[in-house]
Amino acid sequence: MRIQVGYCFDGGSFPGELGAAEAVEGVVTTGPLGLVSILETRLGLVGAHYGQPIRIARYLAAMDALCKTGEPFYKKSFEADGWSSAKSLLVLRDQLRLSGWDGSNLGSSSRLTDMAILEEANILPGLAERIEVVLDSLVKYSISGVSEVTLHVHEQAQWPSCWRRLFTTLEQEGVSISVTQFDFSTKAPTDLDVLHGALCDSGVGDGFFKADGSLICLSASTALEAADALGAWLAAEENNEGTVVIIAESGTEVLDAAMRRHGLPRPGGGSRSQWRAALQLLPLGLGIHWAPFDPQRYLEFLTAPICPLHPAMAGRLVRALEKEPGLGGKKWLEAVAKCEEWARRQENADVLLEDLRFWTEVKRVPPHTGLDVETIRDICLRLSDWAAKGIRAQEGKLMSAVSGMALELAEAVGEIGRQAIPKPQLDRMLDSVIGGGAAVSDKAEASPWTVLSHPGQLGGNVGTVIWWNFTMTGLPSGRLPWTNAEIEALSSAGVRMKDVDLQRNLELSSWQQAACNATKRLILVMPEQDGGEPLAPHPFWENIAAATKLSEETDIPSMTVSASQLRRGDGKLLERIIPLEPVTENAALTFQDQWQAPAGIIERREKESPSGMSKLIKCPLAWVLSHVLKISATGSPTLCQGNQLIGSFCHSIVEDLINESQNWKSDEAVSRATTLFDSRLKEMAATYLLPGMETKREFLRSRLRRAVGDLFERIEGAGLSVVESEREVERTDAGGQTYRGYVDISLEDDKGNPVVWDMKWTNKSKYRREELEKGIALQLAAYCWMLDKDDFPAFGAYYMLAQTELISSQAPWLPPEDVVDSDLKATWEMVRERYDATIDRLMAGDVEAIAPSDEEKEFDFGTGCFFCDYAMVCGVGYE
Ligand code: SF4
Repeated sequence: MRIQVGYCFDGGSFPGELGAAEAVEGVVTTGPLGLVSILETRLGLVGAHYGQPIRIARYLAAMDALCKTGEPFYKKSFEADGWSSAKSLLVLRDQLRLSGWDGSNLGSSSRLTDMAILEEANILPGLAERIEVVLDSLVKYSISGVSEVTLHVHEQAQWPSCWRRLFTTLEQEGVSISVTQFDFSTKAPTDLDVLHGALCDSGVGDGFFKADGSLICLSASTALEAADALGAWLAAEENNEGTVVIIAESGTEVLDAAMRRHGLPRPGGGSRSQWRAALQLLPLGLGIHWAPFDPQRYLEFLTAPICPLHPAMAGRLVRALEKEPGLGGKKWLEAVAKCEEWARRQENADVLLEDLRFWTEVKRVPPHTGLDVETIRDICLRLSDWAAKGIRAQEGKLMSAVSGMALELAEAVGEIGRQAIPKPQLDRMLDSVIGGGAAVSDKAEASPWTVLSHPGQLGGNVGTVIWWNFTMTGLPSGRLPWTNAEIEALSSAGVRMKDVDLQRNLELSSWQQAACNATKRLILVMPEQDGGEPLAPHPFWENIAAATKLSEETDIPSMTVSASQLRRGDGKLLERIIPLEPVTENAALTFQDQWQAPAGIIERREKESPSGMSKLIKCPLAWVLSHVLKISATGSPTLCQGNQLIGSFCHSIVEDLINESQNWKSDEAVSRATTLFDSRLKEMAATYLLPGMETKREFLRSRLRRAVGDLFERIEGAGLSVVESEREVERTDAGGQTYRGYVDISLEDDKGNPVVWDMKWTNKSKYRREELEKGIALQLAAYCWMLDKDDFPAFGAYYMLAQTELISSQAPWLPPEDVVDSDLKATWEMVRERYDATIDRLMAGDVEAIAPSDEEKEFDFGTGCFFCDYAMVCGVGYE
């Protein structure tokens, strides 16, 4: 076997083993890790390979043990953030081992001594140990079947020491080690050749920059614009076979999408984002186990595109949570009961019911106490199992990766040697396990060009090299933490401290390799910003500019082509003509006030509610869209909050009080409401129990006490008796239309006259007062009409909870300041006439949309546009 090894070839390379030949035998092209794997296989070594999170966990346990018996140098940072400390120290330790440290105590500094003590613990082996085992076996047993190792470009001396030792040992065992170089041209008088000469030959560019199109910066304001231009440029040439290499280290998902738009094969390197839906499964599944219960977090778990709870059950729980963001309240219990009922009807009822129990009966612990290891393992194993079973067509590989990550986390928490893991540490562990995302990209499609994920993978000449996203994507690596004394001690012990420099040199050389292998054209694609943040050019840009002595005033502008020229209608891009189609401008969309429906299609509702009447009178189109066509907005689920949440919370407490007794004394009602406050908060408004909400919670408690005290004092003071809370009322008019509604507090005066008090929580009470004054208090008028018995006229009022104010129609038993001069009977007659007239027009097919206007109207109900979901249908949203 002949093995071709390139320092960056582990993720792929160009050209492959075949090169220009039709067939080859016994040749493998790989990187150094691949070489170790091949040697392990040939030597019959089957040692276990551990994932890095598991190694970190084991190292953390060793560091922890040392902290308990002494004062190691890392103690303070370890106590602040154990996982990150273990992660960083393990990287340093692995680097030292790869450079030749044998783990012995060099005695020159407390840091090296502590690290040597850690080596005595049962640390899981890494790459250094694997290479050691390979070296031992090579010496002991020699190797057969490998005749030659060819190093790509770099001499042995340029490789870090661990690889040098491996090559030397192979050579001693009879394997021939040679080096191949690639050809590059410096002869033709192009800008690219000048660059080749400067980078790879003489080291200084002495040619004259001509801007001949062989060295190009394709600039764009965003990656999206750059990808679109690149896709259009590639699509404009039919024959790209074998002549183009795309280097795409990052941002490839944008490129994938652009290629698809232009009908080209997908490069397929993208989608490593850790934010992909499936990768959120673990953080969300674990995140709902922290106390206090956070309704928003739970909502995110339930609405995640990939949720371990069946969507039919998750949807029911979401709807309950939206209305009452808490656990164990009426809506929640109803939703759980409905889920159980639904699950029992399914074939796999046992599994579904067990899922429901597992994800709803969650035991929560405070973040600083930590989640016990057994619970974490249970969650991880459950998610792993679920992900492995539920592999979906489009997320298949990703789901299997998620399953593996869950298993890896379960194993890592087992290695850490602790009973419980606090939230910050668990979050760090999750970061390590999920990392930069799963290495499962969307599949690359067969294409005439080659896509590489690292510039160093370009191992041979090709006509055009496109360096996608030629920007600085990470911070340059930092300096080593060792002091001069430590470096000296390590060097004296045979540790090759120059390895880090060699690695940097190899990285720079890989960039040069990419530039020098382009024979006709090198295109550097440089988006200027990402998400509004400016992007710096790739560090190699400095080398290119210096090597070719580019002038900022003339050379750089002349070699820069802007992707935006396509948008401006200039289709000549890098010597190719891009076919552009002018897009005709649409006429601006405007508001349409008259709509037509077939006559006789729209009917009355069987039972109309006061809010339905209000909607119809304010805007018939909105009523038709909502109640006839049943079109509703499906935005992302949101929790009830603000005044709406406080209002329904206070309503519920008053309802409970009235259900318990109809004869409350004010102070007793306040005391009971205070008791109910905490339990109801958990059930209905758990947001107020979260850290940071203490002030708002106490404010709410005091406002509720004040409102309840005032409410029952007024009821008693007016001599009213409580009939019922949330009373369902219904009445049919002479025309046969039935109206139905729910009265917040139904009362009676001493003569048996019905009294309706409707509770509201708003910032200001003046609008409700104006409603009564202007004769448009539709809701009160409707309830009073429904309860009206001819001899017993009903009285209606708004009770403003936040302001502790009563705003009532005429009532003999109220003080004048609570009364507004209004006639609810007249309001009802006017409303019903309008309702009937509008319904008649709708039944004839005439549908009107009523937008805000300055026109003065009698009994103006205002417009519903402000809270309307249909603004983009009628056109108000375009205005
Ligand atoms: S936005 Fe206004 S006009 Fe348009 S449908 Fe809604 S309420 Fe009617």
